[in-house]
Amino acid sequence: MSDSLPEIFHCKKCGECCCGYGGTFLSEKDIKAIAKFTGTDVKTFLAKFCEFSGTKPILAQGKNGYCIFWNELCTIHPVKPYMCKAWPFIKSVLVDAGNWRIMSSMCPGIDADVPDSVVRRCVADKIADLAHS
Ligand code: SF4
Ligand code: SF4
Repeated sequence: MSDSLPEIFHCKKCGECCCGYGGTFLSEKDIKAIAKFTGTDVKTFLAKFCEFSGTKPILAQGKNGYCIFWNELCTIHPVKPYMCKAWPFIKSVLVDAGNWRIMSSMCPGIDADVPDSVVRRCVADKIADLAHS
């Protein structure tokens, strides 16, 4: 993020976003990276750690309702899916900055007391950063 922009998000590591059916979709890049990180092949990874939303693979939930990779923290942090890396800097906030405040009710790391113009710039900046990572 550029120096001129304020930090508008500090993850509290509460795990709220890792609990419940969140539909954490996986790109092919995510799948390959997580399979490698967990020491398995893609086919086994899909069978063991994923569910399907239609034809699209998503991370499975454990019996406790949390993501299968949650254990007091994200156990695949270095290779977590794009969706997890990006949160809460997501495109729907660019469409309507009001979504930032709605999301803050679910995520205590989000600073909701920020003008919409700043939220939009921060989110656009982070999305651009992720596109180059
Ligand atoms: S809900 Fe927000 S603050 Fe809590 S772990 Fe998820 S991103 Fe971090
Ligand atoms: S991959 Fe990590 S950050 Fe993403 S939902 Fe699972 S435990 Fe949470």
